[in-house]
Amino acid sequence: MKYIDLHLHSYYSDGIYSPKDLVKKAKKEGFSIISLTDHQVIDGIKEAIKEGKKYRIKIIPGVEINTRFKNYSFHLLGYGIDLKNKELNLVLEKMQNERKKNVEKCIFQLKNQGFEIEENKVFKTPSKDIGLGWITSFLYQGKNWKKIKNDFKLKRGQIITLPEIYKKYFLINGKEILSPSQIPFERAVSLIKKANGLVVLAHPSQQLSWSDDWLFPILKKKGLDGIEAISSHHNWSNIEHYQKIAKELKLLITIGSDYHGDLPLKWGFPIKSLWQYFKIEINKEIKKLIAVLS
Ligand SMILES: [Zn+2]
Ligand SMILES: [Zn+2]
Repeated sequence: MKYIDLHLHSYYSDGIYSPKDLVKKAKKEGFSIISLTDHQVIDGIKEAIKEGKKYRIKIIPGVEINTRFKNYSFHLLGYGIDLKNKELNLVLEKMQNERKKNVEKCIFQLKNQGFEIEENKVFKTPSKDIGLGWITSFLYQGKNWKKIKNDFKLKRGQIITLPEIYKKYFLINGKEILSPSQIPFERAVSLIKKANGLVVLAHPSQQLSWSDDWLFPILKKKGLDGIEAISSHHNWSNIEHYQKIAKELKLLITIGSDYHGDLPLKWGFPIKSLWQYFKIEINKEIKKLIAVLS
């Protein structure tokens, strides 16, 4: 057992496995340190820790929070958080309620466009932060799929990608019909710190280009502890680039695949996040990181 992955999702947000199954799978794949970082949810961590004990896999409690800063949307990872922290639990619950309302609005808009969706079926899931993949899975069935085939004039055997579906049905007049629940960057930082956690910016290349590098010293001043430089979302030059920034600013360098599960690919999860493509071995430097995070 020698691998590490600090960015995983279970079915409590938009992943497809239970925390228990996720840990089992991690064991099979040779991981010895993982972190469950569901979006706006910490409900799965206890289950993961319990299962981790069975297999001697270290589970670092984590969370991924949607934040906004200036015109940017950042995903902030909180590591080593106290699961019992009242304020953190309260705010996450609020964000989950907001997301539920946003999903209801989204279903309403999809129905307006002629789709048939039973709301209670969409909400019949352990997820407290329902993802786009789950919602679109209801469009790939029966009459809805027929409608899509008609709308796109699909020929037999032709496939349609999630971005195409998104552009056609989830953007109305340039406005997204499924909005995330977000809190200000500063609020998320203070929440994570009050829960004794460390604050890490997830997959920077997803939200930033290199011309935005001036932001990092500001984010550090505001409490950022680390950068997820080694991410499956990054190409090699991004991995090098963000490691360099982290070293210059004395920020932690963390590692995460953003794994959501193996199937179904049509849900649009990044294929590069699969463990067959992204597996990082634990070395001396990573051991130092783990000592800080734990
Ligand atoms: Zn993310
Ligand atoms: Zn993620």
